[in-house]
Amino acid sequence: MNAVLPIPSILPLSPKNTLAIAEPLPHTRHPGNAPAKREADKLGKRLRHQVGRAIADFGMIEAGDKVMACLSGGKDSYTMLDVLLQLQKKAPVEFSITAVNLDQKQPDFPEHVLPDYLRGLGVDFQIIEQDTYSVVSRVIPEGKTMCSLCSRMRRGALYNHAAANGFSKIALGHHRDDLVNTFFLNMFFHAKLSGMPPKLLSDDGKHVVIRPLAYVREDDIEAYAAYKQFPIIPCNLCGSQENLQRKQVSRMLAGWEKDSPGRIETLSRALGDIRPSHLSDPNLFDFASLGKRGDVTMPNTLAQTHAWLAGGETAGN
Ligand code: SF4
Repeated sequence: MNAVLPIPSILPLSPKNTLAIAEPLPHTRHPGNAPAKREADKLGKRLRHQVGRAIADFGMIEAGDKVMACLSGGKDSYTMLDVLLQLQKKAPVEFSITAVNLDQKQPDFPEHVLPDYLRGLGVDFQIIEQDTYSVVSRVIPEGKTMCSLCSRMRRGALYNHAAANGFSKIALGHHRDDLVNTFFLNMFFHAKLSGMPPKLLSDDGKHVVIRPLAYVREDDIEAYAAYKQFPIIPCNLCGSQENLQRKQVSRMLAGWEKDSPGRIETLSRALGDIRPSHLSDPNLFDFASLGKRGDVTMPNTLAQTHAWLAGGETAGN
């Protein structure tokens, strides 16, 4: 039977298993924004701790898992792979990691960069070639952002690859700030209280997606990537602009963080401390039963209540 990877054997839990507020890095940095060695060691330790804790909190990795680490060539996925490989060495259970890159055939994509880097690491890797760029640029009118369709096609290609190759977990490099950003994006533009979860079962139930960087700050990732000198490949080779709504939310969050340092960390912790009884979704919490007196006949379900309000029949009629 598979065992969930226990956190204490990777890294110690913080008291009460709560999210520790990440300390900002000191400001002494080498040119190129990379932290000095001592700071970088502390940073590396913090990242391993946060990733280890996310793995344990959400049961992300089990013995025998085949983890497909999706590598785009950006700072986030390089950091995720780097930290996962470090944790794998100390983990009490066996699991495999394969780095997978989807070459989407964007113009000027430097095809050799990732294979060279991965060969140098000695890690198992696979490159999928699929020209989603041509499809996206044909379908999306000029001047419009292509990222949404591009991401959906990328996700489809990666899911298919995972299924065809028997990967049990798909690891993505989204970090704490992405999770908070998506939450506000859904709230502001889709009227939904929903975000980007650290662990997710795909809609068809076939894939388990994990986000081991769920507790990691973006600026820590930036500093780590600069220190490690990952060979970054920019995502916008295709010339597409980031979604304007996402940009707007990012700007808002950056402004809040500037005015009140630590605000994003607080928001991130709030995503893990939800009180359905203090929100307003009657499907999530049984408000109708609160304080209900036994001698009063009321509709039993939400559907009956709606019928009652609309003048239809209820159990009490
Ligand atoms: S910037 Fe280009 S490659 Fe990156 S997600 Fe957007 S459309 Fe795709």
